[in-house]
Amino acid sequence: MPFEHFVSLDCSMSRGGKCSIVLPPRSPLGTVAGLSYLHEDTWPAVFLCLRHGQACVRSDQNILQRVEPMGLFRLPLWQIVSECGHEDCGRPHTTYADKAQDWATLVKLILIATPSIRCGDHSLVWRGDLMRGVEFAHNSLMR
Ligand SMILES: [Zn+2]
Ligand SMILES: [Zn+2]
Repeated sequence: MPFEHFVSLDCSMSRGGKCSIVLPPRSPLGTVAGLSYLHEDTWPAVFLCLRHGQACVRSDQNILQRVEPMGLFRLPLWQIVSECGHEDCGRPHTTYADKAQDWATLVKLILIATPSIRCGDHSLVWRGDLMRGVEFAHNSLMR
């Protein structure tokens, strides 16, 4: 029976609905090896729920496993590096999100959601032209 690894997000509790992000077989976060998930040292990692506009920090202790639902189409996981657009800041922030098939849509969703992330003494200022992303597919043929 195929399993998938995922993290559930804070918004699951507070705002109804279960939000989670499924980790693809291979990404900067780690690699699926049989039934285990071999995580990289990129954790703790910041995940964005673009449905509720929330950013959520998860550690490798929060990686969960469940039976993979059959025949479910999965949007890719995106690793997003955003330089803060606050005046003279430019600090890079790495986050992860799903919910979009292509980069233009993802940027649009992030700019609508503008999840709140601490950046020094201010909040990260999201700007489309200061963001770049890499996508990691859920390729079930690779399992
Ligand atoms: Zn959510
Ligand atoms: Zn900043």
